[in-house]
Amino acid sequence: MVVVGGGVVGLGHAVEAVARGLTVTVVERDDRPLGASVRNFGHGCVTAQSDAAYAHAVASRKRWLRLARTAGFWAGETGTVVVARADDELDVLRSLAAERAGDGVTLLTGAETDARAGTAGARGGAYLAGDIRVDPREAVPSIARWLAEQPGVTFRWSTTVLGVEPGGVRTSRGDIAADQVVVCVGHDVDQLFPQLAADAGVRRCSLHMLRVAAPDGRLLDAVTAPAVLTGLSMLRYSALARQPAAARVRERLTSQRPELLDLEVNLMFTQHPGGDLLIGDTHAYGASVDPFAAEPVDQLILEETARLLGVASLRVQERWRGVYASAPGDFLVRHTAPGNTVVGVTTGIGMTTGLGLAAHVVDQLLAGRVPTADPS
Ligand SMILES: Cc1cc2nc3c(=O)[nH]c(=O)nc-3n(C[C@H](O)[C@H](O)[C@H](O)COP(=O)(O)OP(=O)(O)OC[C@H]3O[C@@H](n4cnc5c(N)ncnc54)[C@H](O)[C@@H]3O)c2cc1C
Repeated sequence: MVVVGGGVVGLGHAVEAVARGLTVTVVERDDRPLGASVRNFGHGCVTAQSDAAYAHAVASRKRWLRLARTAGFWAGETGTVVVARADDELDVLRSLAAERAGDGVTLLTGAETDARAGTAGARGGAYLAGDIRVDPREAVPSIARWLAEQPGVTFRWSTTVLGVEPGGVRTSRGDIAADQVVVCVGHDVDQLFPQLAADAGVRRCSLHMLRVAAPDGRLLDAVTAPAVLTGLSMLRYSALARQPAAARVRERLTSQRPELLDLEVNLMFTQHPGGDLLIGDTHAYGASVDPFAAEPVDQLILEETARLLGVASLRVQERWRGVYASAPGDFLVRHTAPGNTVVGVTTGIGMTTGLGLAAHVVDQLLAGRVPTADPS
């Protein structure tokens, strides 16, 4: 099998293929993983998914924890705290808890929420026990390093795939033959398969992200601290967004904070094991990514996060832009020619679902079936 793309989705396919006895070549145009898979929060947002995404998230969770042990990186069963700061947000969490009874959703008081999340002024919240965290900059390169040591696995770094055909790929460093080619190039699917990408409605989604120093006095242990979501996250993640009260959250925020909705802010953060907080994010959609990062957007994220944490200001350590593939469906799985398959996660949940989706695709390919994302 040739896997094109060394992000979490491509590496997930390589892990599954080699576990089933295939020889695998991973072809990646950069000299290490630098795409969406290292630019994200490292949040395994399992509980807030629904339908196929939930099934792939549950399968991915198992794989993250197993790979952390075998490939030697940190993965924390930290859970997530969703902070509610208004009654309509509490209603979303109450109905999620009722729907997911027995699935690790615990309602919290305001004080409990602030104590667990390190926030200030919460009205209440929910703890989602099934969620996990990794440090993406450590985890994804560790998977690649571990894979490269496995018999039957070859990496071709700094090699660009120029064309995909039955029987193999053409690259900037020569042809590579393969029975199966799985293309996992994220948002760059339009460069290799423009018509497929257009038909599927794939666009680029670009996000502002920042790393800030943990505020003085925030006493949470960085390794066990949960991921933190807010009311704005309730408009994005399907199991939250489909609760009836989510419409009221949107209505209120539209009238009170239109600037947050205009930028499609999902106010959330995770803590880096070193202690810093990864904060974000915003969403801007287009065929290409605008290179000009407006400072007021970062300032808005910083002010909103400071307010959430109850501190006057935050010290920025790093800023970056992330890009992922976005389309109307959560997943893009297409058979393009004999032995050729395109696989992508087309909402911002590839860390949550990508490893499970990869296992599902490899199983179907080995069974001689045309793969789909449908886990049933
Ligand atoms: C800022 C941000 C925050 C996010 N937060 C989260 C989160 O907390 N939880 C979550 O579940 N998801 C999150 N996501 C989404 C998640 O990161 C992505 O869905 C996931 O990383 C996609 O993985 P990928 O392997 O498809 O893409 P990528 O990681 O982008 O990998 C694609 C690879 O293909 C390579 N490539 C492209 N074209 C070629 C070619 N022709 N030849 C060879 N190589 C090629 C690229 O160089 C790249 O390395 C976030 C995304 C962003 C941007």
